[in-house]
Amino acid sequence: MEVINDDSCSWINDLSLRTNTQILSSNLDCEWLIIGAGYTGLSAARKLGQLHPNQKILLVDAQLAGEGASSRNSGYLVDTTLNDGFTSNKELENYKKKADIYKLGIEAVKRFIKEYQVDCDWNECGKYFASSKEEDKKILENFSETLSKLGFKHNLLSNKDLKKRLGTNFYNIALHTKGGILLHPGKLVRAMIDTLPENVNLYENSTLLNWKKINDKVICHFKEGSIKTKKIIFATNGFLKSLGIKSNYNFPITLTASMTRSLTDEEFESIGKPKEWGILPVRPMGATIRMTKDRKILIRNTAEVHNPFKMSKTDLKKRSIKQKIGIKKRFPQLPDNIIQSSWSGIVSRSRNSSQIFEKIQENIYVAGCYNGSGIGVGTLFGEQIAIKASNQHSKEIETIEARKKPTWLPPQPFLDLGVRARLIYERVRARSEI
Ligand SMILES: Cc1cc2nc3c(=O)[nH]c(=O)nc-3n(C[C@H](O)[C@H](O)[C@H](O)COP(=O)(O)OP(=O)(O)OC[C@H]3O[C@@H](n4cnc5c(N)ncnc54)[C@H](O)[C@@H]3O)c2cc1C
Repeated sequence: MEVINDDSCSWINDLSLRTNTQILSSNLDCEWLIIGAGYTGLSAARKLGQLHPNQKILLVDAQLAGEGASSRNSGYLVDTTLNDGFTSNKELENYKKKADIYKLGIEAVKRFIKEYQVDCDWNECGKYFASSKEEDKKILENFSETLSKLGFKHNLLSNKDLKKRLGTNFYNIALHTKGGILLHPGKLVRAMIDTLPENVNLYENSTLLNWKKINDKVICHFKEGSIKTKKIIFATNGFLKSLGIKSNYNFPITLTASMTRSLTDEEFESIGKPKEWGILPVRPMGATIRMTKDRKILIRNTAEVHNPFKMSKTDLKKRSIKQKIGIKKRFPQLPDNIIQSSWSGIVSRSRNSSQIFEKIQENIYVAGCYNGSGIGVGTLFGEQIAIKASNQHSKEIETIEARKKPTWLPPQPFLDLGVRARLIYERVRARSEI
């Protein structure tokens, strides 16, 4: 199966067209092969390039590099999460381990943008966890206690403050964490492509069809060529399962989002000219909604089990209508037809919201499964899996490996049934927040 995406994502369309791309069309040998060129694969390639300047490193993606989830996300570089999976974060110790990884993720992205002077609309404005339901105050108060114990700066806000800050009357209660960062995901990943080391060769629109290990080499077959490699890193995130990797520990989920055009001066004034902000829902299936620095509204309010390889135009349209309703609910004064683009993207989930970072066989490594925190964690895990695969050590690896590991998933059809049932339950619980 080939990865086929819509071409309508605003983040991608903000960028200049890439011209110097190459397809894999011969049979090659290399020391290092990375499959998947999103944040994870690009960071792994950058680190390997630095660690092994004289070795041959190949990076291959089924579509154009960076045009998977890495430029289709909502652009929250998170310091903390409230609902990042199907289990709630009850235990403080585990929550701290998770937050330690997010912190390292933020540092990894910060280091990259500083070193390469990247402009990715970086804004340290924090983020809100918000709800229209007064009764969700209890959830936020409990969360606030956890954050206080761990030293995260945050504050609780009510409807009046929120209306002023966000330009909508929709939310009645929120918790603002100071440490969250908003950015342009497409600009970030494009910078990672543009700054790849010289000894990394990138092949795009080249889908890995199958792979096998023969003696001490891994043989990979693509549509129009093959690669024989000594070591391989799988960085295909939502497509790990389709390549038979950690199949009993992760599964793909399809998300869709829409973005409006920039609001006119008049429209912007009608909502009180708010500064850039980003909201995550208190109830897991509620909407993520963001006001960008160029006055566009982004909304993501679907998450579902769907064919990860393609979403039809009709299916995307149906989801886009939900997003239009979501915007209208929050900003009734804005015109109906301001959505500029709608798109889908694939993420990888595990049962207990934990990430994958490991050697799965001799010379075969994998990093992925970040739920909604792949900007920072993917950047971090990419670098660190490259270090691990080079048989080197780091403090970061110790922190990553101290986390809870992903737990085992039931086989099909029980998995799909279970996930679908859970999503329906969460959707009903969050129906006012979509
Ligand atoms: C709508 C949406 C909103 C999100 N919001 C946020 C957010 O606000 N903050 C956040 O941190 N995260 C968010 N995420 C998640 C985040 O985008 C991902 O966790 C992150 O992009 C993962 O990066 P990655 O490099 O591991 O995977 P990807 O970016 O998915 O890259 C994997 C690559 O592997 C390639 N590939 C797959 N199969 C093959 C194959 N057979 N052969 C060759 N190549 C292959 C794909 O083409 C793809 O380019 C969101 C995701 C979506 C879809």
